Amino acid sequence: MGVEPTRHEVTTRQLGRTPARDVSVTVHRYCGGDGPTVYVQAAQHGIELNGPAALRRLHNRLCDAKLAGTVIVVPVMNPLAFDTRSYATPDEYDAQYPNVNRVWPGADDGSFQQRIVAELWPLAAGADAAIDLHTGTPSMLEHVRVVENDKKATALATAFGTNYRLIGDGPISSESGGEASSNVANGDESFIRDDTVRTTQNGEHSGHTQSTETFRIAMTRADVPTITVELGDSRTVDHSVAERGAVGICRVLKQRGMLTASGVLANQLPEPPTQHQLRDDIPVSVTPASGLFEPAANCTVGSEVTDGETLGVVYDPTTFEEKATIATPKPGVIYSLSHGGTVFAGERVASVATPIERTARVDT
Ligand SMILES: [Zn+2]
Repeated sequence: MGVEPTRHEVTTRQLGRTPARDVSVTVHRYCGGDGPTVYVQAAQHGIELNGPAALRRLHNRLCDAKLAGTVIVVPVMNPLAFDTRSYATPDEYDAQYPNVNRVWPGADDGSFQQRIVAELWPLAAGADAAIDLHTGTPSMLEHVRVVENDKKATALATAFGTNYRLIGDGPISSESGGEASSNVANGDESFIRDDTVRTTQNGEHSGHTQSTETFRIAMTRADVPTITVELGDSRTVDHSVAERGAVGICRVLKQRGMLTASGVLANQLPEPPTQHQLRDDIPVSVTPASGLFEPAANCTVGSEVTDGETLGVVYDPTTFEEKATIATPKPGVIYSLSHGGTVFAGERVASVATPIERTARVDT
């Protein structure tokens, strides 16, 4: 390990070609002395803007820093979705896999998005650790997701320093219809079983290789400790959220020994808060009826609820009739709760997770 002044370089990596133009991503490399390589990407989903905003702040810090190792940054992983201001990639590009975060590690002989991912994959998989920046709606707790029992990834998550760390990927029973939920359109990653390893109906579509994993799962399989960060406030750029993202990444670099403890950048880093660990093992709460959803007055993200406690009520907006009471199936902490608004039958309105430890910290 050797700390040296950072050398910054920018390259363009071509990932594919549409009928009329190249599809490429901008890649930043911040190179110091000997040390590990950390890969960071943002904007797999086109409405998740605080990731690139955080990476701009990281850029300003790293360019003036001394560094051991290399930080590779892809600020906009999915320009196809980003440019169209949509959560998923428009069907025009890949109707089979509109969600790019389901096709890692890609496939050279696969669909358009699978091929794009396959071109980027070696850059990520060659790293020693990785951070995948996402954002949820304002009605979701900021959190980091890790694969359970992955100690190295857990250490990254603790260093990043969100107040909550989620493990597990939801009970299998809640799986069906997850991606069909209209919440996907709202860009709330927490409503999506983002992390489930699925098998698709291969023969229905084509004979090519299927790859249907999230970035984090694929990277974990490749033995690269990886965290998925869910920052707040999709669709907007929020100064404080972006700042927390940049600080979190710097804390990860410090944890990996890439910033000297006495360096200016490391010195300016606030200590991460105590991180509460939640297990995502409670079926998400789905409304059985369409209507106007009003969350319970005492319910907000982060609050604890008891078994069967009411999370909100769905009313008929025209007759004022109560259509459904949404209650939590188990006690826990609300980590995602729909704002009041129109909901359709079958739509998820809340997610509750089980607290595991109140003071889970990993120091290694
Ligand atoms: Zn996302």
